[in-house]
Amino acid sequence: MRIDILSSLPHLLNEPFTTSILAKAIKKKIVEIHIHDLRDYAKNNKKQIDDYSYGGGGGMVLMIEPIANCINKLQQEREYQSVIFMTPDGKKLTQSTCNELSQQRNIIILCGRYEGVDQRIRDIFVNKEISIGDYVLTGGELPALVLCDSIIRLLPGSMSNSSCALSDSFQDNLLAPPIYTRPSDFKGHKVPDILLSGDTTKISDWKEEQAYKKTEQKRPDLLDQ
Ligand code: SAM
Repeated sequence: MRIDILSSLPHLLNEPFTTSILAKAIKKKIVEIHIHDLRDYAKNNKKQIDDYSYGGGGGMVLMIEPIANCINKLQQEREYQSVIFMTPDGKKLTQSTCNELSQQRNIIILCGRYEGVDQRIRDIFVNKEISIGDYVLTGGELPALVLCDSIIRLLPGSMSNSSCALSDSFQDNLLAPPIYTRPSDFKGHKVPDILLSGDTTKISDWKEEQAYKKTEQKRPDLLDQ
């Protein structure tokens, strides 16, 4: 899979790709990450990428040309299944969207900043608008990283035990069951006996039952879906 991220502050995006599962996935060539500085696509000498909003209003707006130049160049080189704009007024990110995107070959993620991007970028190029929640951040870089992380961990080979991703919360609309590690007894707080029994069928039934119970208690809305 190839992910191209367009940003006005690209240095914010580097670090998370240098450690842990994301770095390993890049090293194993499971995913390619290409970060683009929108200033490199500005045509004027000042490398201007933002301007005042027509009709007034306080903030600046990311201009159409640098973003269009970058997306046009990328789309001439290969086909992209998704051109995603990270935005608080987009569709709220869910595990099923992550699953869907993890099946795609090439995606572009556009990070907004200031008041956002010129609406015409959204009208002309963007085919998915994604929010990471009902709150407003200063830019789309952290949301883009959230999206990348949630997709890359699903790619086959990213995690040493890929079945882990399938038993995570929200797969099958259930929350994950409780988990434990050593010691089996911490000051009288004991790990449930069943997990120490070695009976894999009973353990798997117990986990399923616990997942249902937890979902009923914490997120009953998921069971209705
Ligand atoms: N004026 C915009 C509004 O009211 O919807 C908010 C702009 S915000 C300050 C700047 C950029 O941060 C957005 O264009 C978007 O790329 C990103 N952003 C902020 N909150 C976000 C969220 N919850 N989900 C995804 N992106 C977000």
